[in-house]
Amino acid sequence: MQKIIIIGAGPVGLLLAHYLLSRRDYQVEIYERRLDPRLAEQSNQRTFPIALQSRGLNAIDQILGLKVALAKKGVWSQGVLIYSKQGQPRRINRKMPSLLIDRNQLNLVLLEHLLEKHSRDLVKVKFDCSCVDINLESQEAILQSNNGERFTTKYDRLVGADGVGSQVREVLSARSDIQCQYDFIPDVYKSLHVPRIAPDQTVELAGNCLHTSTLGKGIRLVMAPQPDDWLHGTLIFSPDNNPLENCTTDEAVLAYFQENIPFIKPMMRLEDAAVLRQRPVSKIMTVKCDRMHVCDRILLVGDAVHAVSPSIGQGCNASLQDVQVFAQCLDRYEDKWEEALPAFTAKRLSDVHALRELSDYTFPRSKPMMLEFIFRLTVGKKLRPWFPLLTNPLPMELIMESELPYSEVLKQSQGWINRVKESMQN
Ligand SMILES: Cc1cc2nc3c(=O)[nH]c(=O)nc-3n(C[C@H](O)[C@H](O)[C@H](O)COP(=O)(O)OP(=O)(O)OC[C@H]3O[C@@H](n4cnc5c(N)ncnc54)[C@H](O)[C@@H]3O)c2cc1C
Repeated sequence: MQKIIIIGAGPVGLLLAHYLLSRRDYQVEIYERRLDPRLAEQSNQRTFPIALQSRGLNAIDQILGLKVALAKKGVWSQGVLIYSKQGQPRRINRKMPSLLIDRNQLNLVLLEHLLEKHSRDLVKVKFDCSCVDINLESQEAILQSNNGERFTTKYDRLVGADGVGSQVREVLSARSDIQCQYDFIPDVYKSLHVPRIAPDQTVELAGNCLHTSTLGKGIRLVMAPQPDDWLHGTLIFSPDNNPLENCTTDEAVLAYFQENIPFIKPMMRLEDAAVLRQRPVSKIMTVKCDRMHVCDRILLVGDAVHAVSPSIGQGCNASLQDVQVFAQCLDRYEDKWEEALPAFTAKRLSDVHALRELSDYTFPRSKPMMLEFIFRLTVGKKLRPWFPLLTNPLPMELIMESELPYSEVLKQSQGWINRVKESMQN
């Protein structure tokens, strides 16, 4: 029986525990910095909706019953409604539906299922407890409870699934030859929650698609319906162009939305504006590493090793897919991690690096390219049967409507990606 320590009980750490325990001969301990989500009141402060498509959903579907349980806490989306500045919607249907689910709910379902299915002899999850260091020689993780108490625990293998600010990655960068690069994307965001049905019941936004509006100057609103008839979303803007900066009262925030984002106007109440005004502005860091394992004992997965911009909504999908790809490597090498780990890096790294390019350069920032983007997604798509060469699919379509590996999507859409890159440099 191998003892696996997983640092981080986010989506990828929890799904990996499911996979390992379904293989048998593994004992898993998970350490998570945050409070137990079953005990703590779920805070809306740091949560946001996640859209899962086939890459992430296929990984979830390998665990019996998990997709059905998640679907009960989310909403299936069939496409996206893009609103003009005047509030006119234009619909883009998707061949493959996405599951829209709040990040906290995704974690909660993964956790509850894990603990229901496996005995405490095989899986232990300790919350309120951070990894602060690792002793690579003695194979020990050094942990600290939030009350300051420190302890160590031995591992056979250790997994860094501790997200973009990964402490495991920090330790490895300092003590091994893994090379990691960090950047901040040129956008920041604020989470926003509003009812999906207007308080006076006169207007209702569709409950089966994403709602989005681009306001110019890099300001974008994306809202996802939730099962409880709420819309959860994010207002995205560049740090030097915060549209709410001069809104010193809740009324001013409400007025901004009423004047500039007509589709949300009937839904938003003064109390929603007040909560939004109090929310902090969040920055987004990206991470790129030159491998996904260190020696023959340590695996890095998810945002810890490839955090990307959320612009195309693939970070979690890719993270969940990491787990499925790693399990295929374990199958191939009969659970010999010393062989499975390098095989995983060899198979996966080009895809996660391609995802980074796609996340940075799929969405254009110049106005002419934005118009072309919308034209090609709407009219161009309809003309494709007659003019296939003139209306190549955009990367967004290949991501949303195919299961191609990210490196293949990048290859097929390199022309568009290069043009967006050039327009940003100009
Ligand atoms: C606004 C926004 C919208 C997004 N939308 C989408 C989307 O639509 N679709 C999509 O696919 N992706 C989306 N993403 C990306 C997605 O959220 C991440 O890719 C995904 O959460 C990565 O999962 P993870 O388990 O690797 O990391 P995380 O979700 O960050 O989980 C890591 C966990 O490790 C814990 N931890 C951290 N440090 C320590 C430590 N030292 N010790 C112990 N525990 C620790 C953290 O508390 C956390 O619970 C979005 C991201 C943002 C910011």
